[in-house]
Parts: sequence; C-alpha cells; structure tokens
Amino acid sequence: MKVLKFGGTSVGSAERIKHVAGLIKASGRNVVVLSAMAGTTNTLVEIADYLSKGNVPGAQETLNHLNLKYNAVIDELFVTPGAHARAKAVIGERFSFIRALVRGEYSLAVSKEILAQGELMSTALMNIYLNEIGIKSVLLPALDYMRTDANGEPDMRYVSVRLRRLLDLNRDADVFLTQGYICLNSVGEVDNLKRGGSDYSASIIGAVIDAEEIEIWTDIDGMHNNDPRYVENTAPVGELNFEEAAELAYFGAKILHPNCVLPAKLANIPVRLLNTLDPKARGTVIYNMPPDGKIKAVAAKDNITAIKIKSGRMLLAYGFLHKVFETFEKHQTSIDMMATSEVGVTVTIDDESHLAALVDDLKNFGTVTFDRDMVIVCVVGDLEWHNRGFEALAVTALRDIPVRMISYGGSNYNISMVIRSSDKLEALKRLSEALF
Ligand code: ADP
Ligand code: ASP
Ligand code: MG
Repeated sequence: MKVLKFGGTSVGSAERIKHVAGLIKASGRNVVVLSAMAGTTNTLVEIADYLSKGNVPGAQETLNHLNLKYNAVIDELFVTPGAHARAKAVIGERFSFIRALVRGEYSLAVSKEILAQGELMSTALMNIYLNEIGIKSVLLPALDYMRTDANGEPDMRYVSVRLRRLLDLNRDADVFLTQGYICLNSVGEVDNLKRGGSDYSASIIGAVIDAEEIEIWTDIDGMHNNDPRYVENTAPVGELNFEEAAELAYFGAKILHPNCVLPAKLANIPVRLLNTLDPKARGTVIYNMPPDGKIKAVAAKDNITAIKIKSGRMLLAYGFLHKVFETFEKHQTSIDMMATSEVGVTVTIDDESHLAALVDDLKNFGTVTFDRDMVIVCVVGDLEWHNRGFEALAVTALRDIPVRMISYGGSNYNISMVIRSSDKLEALKRLSEALF
C-alpha cells in the first residue's frame, strides 16, 4: 500500500478535483491524504483573526464569500442530482458549524476548530465525487486516529492502533481517503500539525502502515535545485537522501514540510515528490541513498534575526554557552545557526515573539546586539568534509555580498550563510550560476 498526498493546488478547483480523482483511480488501493482546497486555510485563518479581534461582521463576510466559492465548485463538480445534493448538505453543515463558532466566544480552541474545516470539506467533496464515478472510497476521519502527545509530537502508538483498526474495518474499500493537517492534541481538542502540515500527516501515516512509498503530489515536478519562485531555469533534482531533504525543507524549500522527513526516514520509506499537472514527470525520490559527492540544491529561509553576545571571557569561562542556551530555552526560542569566537557568539533565530525579553536576559552575560531582516541561504548536498572545494565555490559565489555569518561542518550536508534579505535574490541567482 502507498500513501498519496495531494496539496492545495492539486485539489484547488472542480477541474483539479476531477483530474486528481483520475490519478487516485489509476493508482489502486492506497491511502490518499488531502489538503484543503488552495486558499481555503488562508481564508479560515483570516476568519479566525477577525474573530480574535472581535470583528464578527468581518468574519461573517469572509465566510459568506468562501461559501459562495464552495457552492460554485459543487455546481461544477457533480452531475448526478444525488451526489450534488449530498455535497450541498455536507458542505452546508460545515459552513453552519463555522457560522455558529463565529457567533460565539473566541478562544484558541475555537480558532483551531475553524482551521480544521478546510481539510474536512476537501475530503468530503472528493469522497462524494469518487463514489459518483463508481469508486468505493472510504473516508477515514483524521480526528479518529491522528493525535499528538503532551510535547506536540505525533503519538505514534495511538495513531498506529487507531488507524490500523479503521483500515481493518473497511476491507472492501477501493481506496481510503483522509484529511491531512488536522489532529487531536493530548487533551483531545482539535488541533493541527502547523501550516503545510499535510505532508507531515502523509509521512506519519506512511510510517504507521509501513507503506511501500509516500507520494507527495504538488504543482511542480519535484524538488528543484533552487527556489523557482525567485530564480529562473531551476531544474528538478532526481534523488536526495533523507538528510539532504530535511535540510532543504527546514531551510526554506516550501515543497516539503520540515517535519515530514523524519517519520519516513526512521521507517526507511521512500518519499517521492510528483507533479499533479505532469504525472509522468520523474520528480524527486528521497530515500536512504548512498553518498554521491554532489551538491544538490540551494534554499533560503526568511525572517532571520542574528543575535550577538559579546563577552570578554567566553572560551575561558566554561559554562558560558550553557547559560546562553539556557536563556533561549527559558524564552522558548529555538536557535537555527551559531558561530563562536573567543570574544563572542552569534546565533540566529526565526521567531521574534520573545525577542525583547530574550535580549534583556542575555545582557546578564555580555553586550548584546542584533540584526533583523536577515536570510539564511543554504547549500545542500553530499558535503562530506573530505570532498574538496565545495565551501570555496559557495563562498566565492557570494564574493560581492556582505555575509554576516557562515556555518559549515555541523552536518555533512549543509553550508549556511546569513545575509541581508535585500541581497537574497542576487545570492540565490549567483549560487545557481556557480553550482549548477
Ligand atoms: P502544496 O500546496 O501542494 O503543498 P506547496 O505550495 O506547499 O504545495 O509547495 C509547492 C511549492 O513549493 C512550489 O509551487 C514552489 O513554488 C515552492 N518551492 C520552493 N522551493 C522549491 C524547490 N526547491 N523545489 C520545488 N518547489 C519549491
Ligand atoms: N491546508 C493546510 C495549509 O494550508 C495544510 C496543508 O496544505 O498542508 O497550511
Ligand atoms: Mg505544502
């Protein structure tokens, strides 16, 4: 059995839903994970945001607009009156549910309930459509099996027991359909796996059912060697190992959710990135591949802040770094990159929500300055240190661009450089020219 995950653009219109139904039909008896239709989660976030600000009319207007869109999709998608009526009823129920939430009190739990509706609607539509075209698809409600523990990590045992039971109960199904992104948390409230988290759902499911392969179907033919949103003439990378894929996902390659790699890696299940719009394209396969001595791709992570803590006695004073790290832990801020010298340490963060208090506390250990609006550009590949010349190539490509910080040797897979965000485009282009 395989797991096939289709992203938002893949199911973003009636036409796309029909197209994906064809791919599902052709692929056989698998588990299919769907995202919300493109734009829906953003709109639901907007609705929850209006609500959090007490602007109920704003939330209602946005909701009405979304409702119209879904009605138009239903009218275009279904030909048989029975399927059309079923879809109208199911989607109507979802909108009534959101409407009731909008009229009530705002809380974080309410906002999570609102965000969950996109995947519930896309899977309901696909299920009715598959049934309409004669495929016996069975909907596996993610909220019946997907759950995180007290640390926010997937509770693999719980997921395994629940999901396997559901699969066993439906032995005559042609295909299983389920929601990505949504889950219950450890206290049983509706929650989610963070934006873009449907990839993570697919990987968790793949690991739990010991799938033959996890396929992530999206709107591009695999992982490209640079960010196609900023650089022209990028090309798909045929193969990556799990570590390279994890580095790329974490450092900005939006095609893959950063957490998606680990469950597949641990279970040693290949992840294939495929293009819904060009299903015959080879795409990218991520697997436990042996080292090949090649640079694979470049990615960039935005909204980085570099924090420097200067102290006269850093290396001699043991325990200094410990205190610094402890302070980051206290302020629940994780560190992306670091560079040290005898007189100081610089670390980068991508979450500024506790910056003021963090900096205030760090001042106990030295002089603190920070640079905002930075970017990490990251070169990823088989960069084992015995391989010669890769670091020189990467640094030389950025010779005219001020580099705030460099990190190399933390793993065998990555050279990272921190630059100003205004230099990002130029840096990505030059790296492509120099490396590929
Ligand atoms: P989905 O909705 O299917 O989950 P996403 O928008 O999350 O799709 O991811 C696909 C997008 O990722 C592509 O359209 C592309 O713009 C972007 N992307 C960023 N970096 C890369 C990369 N290195 N290779 C391929 N796509 C990338
Ligand atoms: N629908 C969710 C989002 O837009 C999850 C996903 O698409 O993976 O973030
Ligand atoms: Mg995505």
